[in-house]
Amino acid sequence: MLNEGDLFAHAWDNFKYLNIYIPKYTGGEWSLFTAYAYYPSLSCVEDNIDGVFYSSIRWGFGAHSELEDGQEWSSVITHEVGHWLDLRHTFENGCSAPGDLVDDTPYTTGGSIEVEGCFNNDLSCEESTNGENYMDYNHDCKKMFTVGQVERMTAALHLPARSNLWSTENLIATGCASASASIEKEVENNILSVYPNPANSVVHFNLNAAPESIIVSNALGSIIQIDIDGSLIYTLDVADLPSGIYFYQVDFGSSSENGKFLVQ
Ligand SMILES: [Zn+2]
Repeated sequence: MLNEGDLFAHAWDNFKYLNIYIPKYTGGEWSLFTAYAYYPSLSCVEDNIDGVFYSSIRWGFGAHSELEDGQEWSSVITHEVGHWLDLRHTFENGCSAPGDLVDDTPYTTGGSIEVEGCFNNDLSCEESTNGENYMDYNHDCKKMFTVGQVERMTAALHLPARSNLWSTENLIATGCASASASIEKEVENNILSVYPNPANSVVHFNLNAAPESIIVSNALGSIIQIDIDGSLIYTLDVADLPSGIYFYQVDFGSSSENGKFLVQ
């Protein structure tokens, strides 16, 4: 069995990166674990032993996966990053306060991963169970966090163990943001200029060919489609958008160009 110490020899700077380890703990046998993660801890990060750990043989499909037909546990990584951002299981403390430390997640005695179906343990604390919650153990239909959980994760991002990861300095240092005020890219015969980056009020798209579409999305997958009117200049109002990294795709018909910018 591989131990954590072996993994940490390969750790990237915990202040700059979220480290996700995908070890195969047992040779060809069912893994002894599925996944786990550490809550935000400054000493953990200082010691460079923070991270998310996910059994490689339960990661998606493929020749080396031991997932059974129809199983799909990719949502486990979402669950683990939830822990990494300070979320507890929805069934923490069972039916008793303080539960999972989040107000809007119903109490539940929660989950065994052997219990299948979207409504497992429903009404276990005499109220409807949020069986679709990523922090339940039900792996059949995970699809949501509550508003309260998002607030707790957002607060966690400001803890000393997490706050540097998304600082402008670190995004530039790790290549996630450009240090220059604009990104200019030569794309075959098209010049695309997207600026300013980072932005806080508007982002300009200057093109030298008329696009067929410009689509902007954020890490959560929310899509903004910019209205195309045949011109070469478009401006996106970002003043009301949540801060974070946004991805754009400009489709020119015969080619397309992708990139990203930061909203502060
Ligand atoms: Zn968990």
